[in-house]
Amino acid sequence: MDKKYDKIAFEFESAWKNITPEVQKEIFLFAEKYKEFLNHGKTERECIKQIIQRAKEKGYQDIQDIIKDGGPLSPGTKIYANNRGKSAALFVIGKEPIEKGMHIVGTHVDAPRLDLKPFPLYQDGELAFLKTHYYGGIKKYQWTTIPLALHGFIINKEGKTIEISIGESEEEPVFYITDLLPHLAEKQYQKKLKEGITGEELNVLVGSIPYREEDIENPIKYNILQLLHAKYGIEEKDFLTAEIEVVPAGKARDIGFDKGLIGAYGQDDRVCSYSALMAIFDVEEPSKTVAAFFVDKEEIGSVGNTSMQSRFFENVIAELIAIQSEPFHYLKVQRSLTSSKVLSGDVGAAFDPNFPEVFDQRNTAFSGKGVLICKYTGARGKSETNDANAEFLAEIRKIFEENHICWQIGELGKVDAGGGGTIAYIFGNYGADVVDCGTPVLSMHAPMEVVSKVDLYMTYKAYQAFFNASK
Ligand code: MN
Ligand code: MN
Repeated sequence: MDKKYDKIAFEFESAWKNITPEVQKEIFLFAEKYKEFLNHGKTERECIKQIIQRAKEKGYQDIQDIIKDGGPLSPGTKIYANNRGKSAALFVIGKEPIEKGMHIVGTHVDAPRLDLKPFPLYQDGELAFLKTHYYGGIKKYQWTTIPLALHGFIINKEGKTIEISIGESEEEPVFYITDLLPHLAEKQYQKKLKEGITGEELNVLVGSIPYREEDIENPIKYNILQLLHAKYGIEEKDFLTAEIEVVPAGKARDIGFDKGLIGAYGQDDRVCSYSALMAIFDVEEPSKTVAAFFVDKEEIGSVGNTSMQSRFFENVIAELIAIQSEPFHYLKVQRSLTSSKVLSGDVGAAFDPNFPEVFDQRNTAFSGKGVLICKYTGARGKSETNDANAEFLAEIRKIFEENHICWQIGELGKVDAGGGGTIAYIFGNYGADVVDCGTPVLSMHAPMEVVSKVDLYMTYKAYQAFFNASK
């Protein structure tokens, strides 16, 4: 190959090839801490709880206290805002007024799962089950015959909050969804994969021993109610005022002889959430205010009062500007948002050699090639996507290259192969500059998703460089 060609031709390379043994060590250490975060964050509430807890330890103050005291908002002030325990925003106040714009990384903490229906418990065929309604885009058959855990938040009739987590430690039981034995699956085999297991078949097996002290109807169901009442003080009616999520049981694991990959539930999008959290914790006195948003409900279309579409984030920014610059005018909020630069931190699809037909190999992300920039997502001719501007892409490219970030660019599959969305367009609607930038994932939305440790680390480094670029 002649040198002239080398200079102008380009291909993204394996990130592993470009790091030193010392950095590799750092990557593996970072991955261990990330796995801990995943193990304690199986639901959006558990993630936000960890985020707020850690923020407090790092000296972040509750925005409610700042509002009460009317400030001060000096450069370097660290603030958190908690939205109903399901979404949150962290800020480090910059030297310039917030009105001049911010550097924001937005990620989501919700993940596909099975939610219990409001009236879930029943007995059938000498077994007890819980009815579920799935949340987000799942391949339903993947959720059968694997160990499951229950993570719940219940408010009983006295108004007391009861938090439950059953199935994560070795001593605890797990839960389970049955599938048909192959011997009797002749008809099931004929169905389309999508219909092989239906939503109403995702019933979670939770018991099998009848209550024996009295002769009653549905003694197995009653026995379960007895156990729940004894342990948590809850009654059947309390399910109506509960949020109980069924998630894969167990901890994050290394994958492969070389331990280069992490297998765990909920890495979409907690890999970006954790990276954003660690990156903002590195920020001390930025020039422009930096912010990390952790949102809920992305997987169901970013709707509702804890989602990116809720006014929560806008309101928090308005509160901060009202304290920072008198006289307050709402235009300042609009100015701040339209002048902001945003990385929409969400995962993308990594090339899967088992299914090469859905990827354009020249324009796909690969596991191990670093943090992924996705110019647009969408489906059917880029519909409903944020398509990032060349100017902003050039800015991000410069930041990443100056900071030696291993990065790559990739589409979510072949044209018309399918598609997806993120929270990017919502920032775009505010007028901010935004691009999707996150970690490539294998088996996205499966009970166990796979991420490369070097990609995780480069995601963190990329967000850190982006925050630092506000100087
Ligand atoms: Mn996502
Ligand atoms: Mn997703």
